[in-house]
Amino acid sequence: MRPGLSEDLIARVLGAAPKYTLAELEEKFPPRNLPDGAMVTRFAPSPTGYMHLGGLYQALIDSKLAYDTGGVFMLRIEDTDTKREVKDAVQLIIDSLNKFGITYNDMPEYGPYYQSQRKDIYHSVAAELLRTGRAYPCFLTADDMERIRGEQSAAGFATGIYGEFARDRDITPDEIIRRMDNGAVPTIRLYSTGDSARRIFCKDAVRGSIGFPENNEDIVLIKSNDGLPTYHFAHLCDDHFMRTTHVIRGEEWLPSLPLHTQLFRMMGWQPPMYIHTSTIDKIDSETGKQRKLSKRKDPESNVAFFLADGWPTGAVLEYLGNIAASGYEEAKLKGTVKTIWEYAIKPKKIPMSGALFDMKKLEWWAKEYIGAMAVPDLVKSVTDWANEYGDEKQKSQVADQAYLTNVLAIERDNPKRVRKDFITWRQTLEIVEFFFDELFVPNTEYAYNRDVLNAFLDTFNIADDKDTWWNKIVEIANRAGVKNGDVAMNLRVALSGRTNTPDLYSIMQVMGKERVQQRIKVALK
Ligand code: GLU
Repeated sequence: MRPGLSEDLIARVLGAAPKYTLAELEEKFPPRNLPDGAMVTRFAPSPTGYMHLGGLYQALIDSKLAYDTGGVFMLRIEDTDTKREVKDAVQLIIDSLNKFGITYNDMPEYGPYYQSQRKDIYHSVAAELLRTGRAYPCFLTADDMERIRGEQSAAGFATGIYGEFARDRDITPDEIIRRMDNGAVPTIRLYSTGDSARRIFCKDAVRGSIGFPENNEDIVLIKSNDGLPTYHFAHLCDDHFMRTTHVIRGEEWLPSLPLHTQLFRMMGWQPPMYIHTSTIDKIDSETGKQRKLSKRKDPESNVAFFLADGWPTGAVLEYLGNIAASGYEEAKLKGTVKTIWEYAIKPKKIPMSGALFDMKKLEWWAKEYIGAMAVPDLVKSVTDWANEYGDEKQKSQVADQAYLTNVLAIERDNPKRVRKDFITWRQTLEIVEFFFDELFVPNTEYAYNRDVLNAFLDTFNIADDKDTWWNKIVEIANRAGVKNGDVAMNLRVALSGRTNTPDLYSIMQVMGKERVQQRIKVALK
């Protein structure tokens, strides 16, 4: 510790007298009144205009842990990096969470939830540290830092502002005043008492206790350019005063854990339980090796991709949930649970490495997910997607809702034998394109059996039940001396242009008399 600063000097250094004492903050944000074991979590994205799949994974874990335990899940916008600010980025985060069905239930009393609106809180905590000699104003410029870094590298020392390199660590009040009179604006740095030769033990729910060298760097707490906190200091203040019990964040933050543990201990505050999630990986198609999803190379690293491409958001969540809680798939196959929301995620079992997100496997989850949907929900999902993301063609397919409903209802009446070929909304509309006259492409390559098609037209009656209809086909086959399947294939290709379709009888029923007759006539031409 160093001598603390006077209230006047603190006000000068921070630009204004602090608004609260620590005791007032403790009272303003009291421990939450929640049942035992209730978890308080938060998703804390920076508004960069991009939401990574790993962020969605974390948000899912956040919300599940909170809701499974009767706790609270907050959305906190980490907008302290004003240089990286992107227009509409916050809205993009909120919309994405909404679309994936992830809801938060924060309470206004613990807000505001934008870090840029919490300056009073950070400055009040910083004031306490300045008062008690645990932080100091530092006037190192970017050039100074550059020079120090160069010296350190040349001498083979660790880089950073620590020990003898922390020039202003023991700066006097007079010197502070002199520099500020000259127009300099300080950053506020931690007066670190850590020693990198000693070890600090930190906790992670999955990894257990981990030993690190202590942090000896006088890291920046408050930046000079805008008076906003660094991530480290905001994390300390926010997760304490928001009463977060569990911090779920990417493993890239693991190296900061000794610093964060040091900060909480310095304050005498209970640190949250940390869960550092693994990166989300894929198998590289060229090397065959598992690697982390790349923002540049892999469209699926961006959650916007799944929305625009029409993946059922619920299926993406199911798959992410199964990564976080690997027993889920088995429980689902056994039928003990139906959705990930019914299956608890256990912090200890969240994987600490190698979380694999494979698009082929996602297809399986999507087929299962869509297979379990009721027809009206399916129609709505396809329609909403087409109207928001589709082109003119796809929009036209959803215009006649009654027809679309009949088309999508085919082979869904028997829950045991529901068709499983729909994967995405985009692909669903593609599969059913042939039902729509403007999109239907007659198959002119196929060698139709004219006798068979003519015979069918002669006896066709849309009112026939399935048995009667089939008996007619058998009769036509017998008379023409071909197999029943050949007759069906001739009709199938004439109606759909394809050799592979769902149930032919249902297709005719949905298409209706005129359309069936007309298409067979086209095939005969
Ligand atoms: N804003 C930080 C990030 O996006 C949040 C990390 C955390 O959850 O604490 O990485």
